[in-house]
Amino acid sequence: MGITNPWEPVQTYSNTQTPRELPMHQKDGSFGVLTTQVSKILDWSRSSSLWPALFGLACCAIEMMSTSASRFDLARFGAEVYRASPRQADLMIVAGRCSVKMAPVLRQIYDQMPEPKWVISMGACASCGGVFNNYAIVQGVDKIVPVDVFIPGCPPTPDMLLFGFNELQRKIREGIPNPPDPLKDSGLKLVGPSNTNMDL
Ligand code: SF4
Repeated sequence: MGITNPWEPVQTYSNTQTPRELPMHQKDGSFGVLTTQVSKILDWSRSSSLWPALFGLACCAIEMMSTSASRFDLARFGAEVYRASPRQADLMIVAGRCSVKMAPVLRQIYDQMPEPKWVISMGACASCGGVFNNYAIVQGVDKIVPVDVFIPGCPPTPDMLLFGFNELQRKIREGIPNPPDPLKDSGLKLVGPSNTNMDL
């Protein structure tokens, strides 16, 4: 007599539910067989371990910081390791407006990142100049670097950055290539604030 299982009296489902029969995984020591392609494994591993460059330009960067904090937790997708050196980063999140003076610096940081690399344009300012339709702000960073994912909004919420990040992961897993490099195609070269020879 008596209850052998101390948890038996605890009802874990409502009176109208029938308990689900969960399939049990039997550990019998045998190896499972998994077949795939090397390219798929590489794409999957790259998409699951993106390291963003530590790079924020304006107010959007505050939302980017929130995305890494505990409430939204970008670490769930393997991208919490923001790198202070572009040589250790494979993702550039352009968070905020980019001034014409900053454009050569942004391009230089992009050039210093090793291949393969990706770019997210975060916010209206980075994507198209936003409310700053003037001579001092680059009207879309896709004039400087090839942008893989654009995120609208002013500012985009951390949820939106997470969604954009997931879209980038999907692109990588599906093997979708980067867009063409705007500077390479145009033949222009950004050489510095005093010698900027392109009309942005
Ligand atoms: S999009 Fe809005 S929040 Fe982001 S940098 Fe521009 S003004 Fe700031």
